[in-house]
Amino acid sequence: MKLPVDQLIRPDILAMKAYPVAAAEGFIKLDAMENPWRLSQDLLVELGRQLAEAHINRYPDPSGGGLKEMLRVAAGIPGNADILLGNGSDEVITLITQALARPGATVMALEPSFVMYKLNAVFSRVNYVGVPLNHDFTLNLPVLLDAIAKNQPAVLFLAYPNNPTGNRYSREDVLAVIEASPGLVVIDEAYGPFSDDSLMELAGSVDNLIVMRTLSKVGLAGIRLGYAAGQPKWIAELDKVRPPYNINVLTQITARFALTHSGVFEEQASALRRERSHLAEALAAYPGVTVYPSEANFLTIRLPEADLLYAWLKSRRILIKNLGGMHPMLENCLRFTVGSPDENRAVIAALDEYFR
Ligand SMILES: *Cc1c(COP(=O)(O)O)cnc(C)c1O
Repeated sequence: MKLPVDQLIRPDILAMKAYPVAAAEGFIKLDAMENPWRLSQDLLVELGRQLAEAHINRYPDPSGGGLKEMLRVAAGIPGNADILLGNGSDEVITLITQALARPGATVMALEPSFVMYKLNAVFSRVNYVGVPLNHDFTLNLPVLLDAIAKNQPAVLFLAYPNNPTGNRYSREDVLAVIEASPGLVVIDEAYGPFSDDSLMELAGSVDNLIVMRTLSKVGLAGIRLGYAAGQPKWIAELDKVRPPYNINVLTQITARFALTHSGVFEEQASALRRERSHLAEALAAYPGVTVYPSEANFLTIRLPEADLLYAWLKSRRILIKNLGGMHPMLENCLRFTVGSPDENRAVIAALDEYFR
């Protein structure tokens, strides 16, 4: 006799819902912080040529085939830091959590923040402590320092800037948190290219600090490449948990190609920062709309009856993220990924109609 699914799968997994990904066919897609632009025709042709040469019959180079050296230059990773590559930074979060999941260990994160920190704690069966931000999403330093002292987290994940709120905490506060933490502190700089600050220069020299980044938000979400930098003694342990061939052949080639043409992506990031200011200004002019300060490629707003605006935009074939229901502090909040100038104009036209 075969046991049924619900007697074999873990009860906590049975009780979960799968990560929701909205259907976006035919929509202006502004829900997932993707870069709106594809590569130019010339670059696509050249990339196609390189991909055609790929040895897809072979396993990929387990050390990344020169990618780490290129990332070190591109991201300013200090010489005394080692680098861990992940199949997206999602996988880096998983590897860190698995490696630290001693019995009774605690994972800590701020709330609201990136949901994968908590999900991975659940998957690895460790304690999870979420520490609330202030209602305007700023960091409540005394509350966080108290929680650290009380819970002694094995790892604290801190998104800098934060998702889904867009704000960056003050550097002084974050340094105080790193100083006060007994365990590992992971600074998640997924939005680093859109931000005015980075702690990457401290990776390697500050004990128990890992700085994590990704190529996803700058135009390469489809290839899945994230990375973390920290002291060699940490990276060596995390590397034991990593599946040896986690960065596939096509991703390695595409990432090397992109890093060779990094100027293209840097210009796009600058253009998105300019578009972010225009869009923020436009959003703030509508009645009842609060726009939160953002150093990421998205803007989070709060307004009365946000569900109505979300549905209106959807009826206009514009897909944003409705944050209501994700966390009590995000009630009536919507998140707009900053798109191309044309996409943002379409958003503003739809908003003009809605608020008329
Ligand atoms: C998008 C995002 C990630 C995940 O990035 P991938 O590299 O695509 O897995 C990690 N952290 C934060 C805060 C994000 O917003």
